[in-house]
Amino acid sequence: MPREASSGGIVIRASAGTWEVAVIRPHGRHLWALPKGHVDPGETPEQTARREVREETGLSVALLAPLGEIRYVYQFRGQRIFKRVHFFLFRYEAGELGPLPGPRVEVDEVRWLPLEGLIPALGYKGEKAVAGRALRWMRAQGMASGVPSSPEAPPATGEGARGKQEG
Ligand code: ATP
Repeated sequence: MPREASSGGIVIRASAGTWEVAVIRPHGRHLWALPKGHVDPGETPEQTARREVREETGLSVALLAPLGEIRYVYQFRGQRIFKRVHFFLFRYEAGELGPLPGPRVEVDEVRWLPLEGLIPALGYKGEKAVAGRALRWMRAQGMASGVPSSPEAPPATGEGARGKQEG
């Protein structure tokens, strides 16, 4: 079976006290997905992910963590193809959302989504799993405030609450 390797990213940015994620609608498909693309000769998976994120979303990013890989088999002209896709968690650094102009039209739409809606929004099971890994990594870093995690503490009530709440 022919094999293919691609690489992609989850790009997060802080916005109004919550996290948002850049998602794409691949050309001709009616679902949200993560930016990704083929690993070119001589590239590391991380370099590919960074390049594909830039080409498909217009964003420059900084690495936060590797998220492992997913595998799937798809059919192209009657042939089954085995594919592995490495994913990385990136933090937004610069750029405006929108695919870069170029000869390849691979993206129909790009959008920032609230992080808490990412897993239900993504169309592919493997990418949902990658999003779950990203959320776990962020929680472990204390970064996932505003995102549902294990049962939340009840809100503080009048008498006991001391001092001023910030933010
Ligand atoms: P790229 O250059 O972004 O790696 P591509 O467009 O050449 O991608 P895929 O995105 O892998 O190729 O799409 C090939 C087929 O695999 C399509 O039918 C697509 O719906 C399907 N596909 C894409 N991602 C997944 C996934 N995570 N799980 C299962 N099937 C997928």
